[in-house]
Amino acid sequence: MSLIVQKYGGTSVGTIERIEAVADKVKGFRDAGHDIVVVVSAMSGETNRLIALAKDITDTPSNREMDVLVSTGEQVTIALLAIALQKRGCDARSYTGAQVKILTDDAYSKARIQDIDNHRMRADLDAGRVVVVAGFQGVDPEGNITTLGRGGSDTTAVALAAALKADECQIYTDVDGVYTTDPRVEPHARRLDKITFEEMLEMASQGSKVLQIRSVEFAGKYKVPLRVLSSFQDGEGTLITLEEDDDMEKPVVSGIAFNRDEAKVTILNIPDHPGIAYRILGPISEANIEVDVIVQNFSEDGSTSLSFTVHRNDMKKAADILAKVAQELGAKSTVTDDRIAKLAIVGVGMRSHAGVAAKMFKALADENINIQMISTSEIKITVVIEEKYLELAVRTLHAAFELEESPRVE
Ligand code: ADP
Ligand code: ASP
Ligand code: MG
Repeated sequence: MSLIVQKYGGTSVGTIERIEAVADKVKGFRDAGHDIVVVVSAMSGETNRLIALAKDITDTPSNREMDVLVSTGEQVTIALLAIALQKRGCDARSYTGAQVKILTDDAYSKARIQDIDNHRMRADLDAGRVVVVAGFQGVDPEGNITTLGRGGSDTTAVALAAALKADECQIYTDVDGVYTTDPRVEPHARRLDKITFEEMLEMASQGSKVLQIRSVEFAGKYKVPLRVLSSFQDGEGTLITLEEDDDMEKPVVSGIAFNRDEAKVTILNIPDHPGIAYRILGPISEANIEVDVIVQNFSEDGSTSLSFTVHRNDMKKAADILAKVAQELGAKSTVTDDRIAKLAIVGVGMRSHAGVAAKMFKALADENINIQMISTSEIKITVVIEEKYLELAVRTLHAAFELEESPRVE
């Protein structure tokens, strides 16, 4: 008998039929003798629907009320799943994040979990009940409802698994594991049996939304055995593992991640001397805007330009801040571009292979795809390109690094 934390995402609980199917699945695990804690997301589309309702009232709803609003989606699914389990004679109880007491900081819409009280869950498990917990939400020290960022139910599940020292955390979704790239963009993508935490962290941070990045960070930190599986079909899924294989055949590139949610902001003709990057990026970070790829261009006549990417939702805010800084620095202007996409190849095999970047750049050049920005780490190479070439670039690199199952038959 083991303790398993299972998370079912939006499409997995998207209709009453799906919720009933999840209840059957959970009951199967109970009948096999396992202790089960289930984390559920809102029904698919619900979180977006709720956000749109608020946006119909104002473009600038308060962060506190947005969290009160969007957290309701998950409250619906926990109750429905508990009812479906009870109908099957499976004792179950549902809890919101605040009821469990998933304590977070007070950063609405991107709160971080600080502590989890596992007493109520333990008592229910000891009494033979299935515990159903709302994903994506918590409560701050003042008792305000908080949420953990889009895709945050993954993080709830991993955090509960860590707090309960579960034997495994299973993330059930609408694909049967982690693929070499998003199978919706590259139908030849291949499911991976295993992927290392390090690689999964890079994949998630570069845009593979199959797992929220914080859930992977959490799993790595607390050594939670983590698996991604399909709620629609049986299978082993993908294990996120701490061990790197000693396999000689280890591929150089394990996967390709991408992100269409970013925008590029550039400030032109800035003086090229110490402290300028800080003058520009300091106010951006003070405004809580996350910056990703940064490029400072070649200096001519003592002046240069600096470009960086931010989330598209933050582009206007960043541009407004830069316009002010530009004025102070006597810089010429700022330029924004939201028709970009970020693309990264990821693989621990890169550590021991040279020429990976050259191969990537050649493959893109052969398709006439211009690279606007480049950034690298030990196990990834990221490029920023024009958004309209994204799908072509993903498929080109997928083929160039031989990630598909078997040679493509055209
Ligand atoms: P859920 O609602 O279950 O949380 P998500 O939509 O958040 O599901 O995540 C699953 C989706 O992630 C898949 O449908 C797939 O399109 C996308 N995805 C992106 N990159 C990958 C990848 N490398 N492997 C598998 N799925 C991926
Ligand atoms: N319902 C939330 C979202 O759509 C959280 C989640 O699904 O993980 O982002
Ligand atoms: Mg998700």
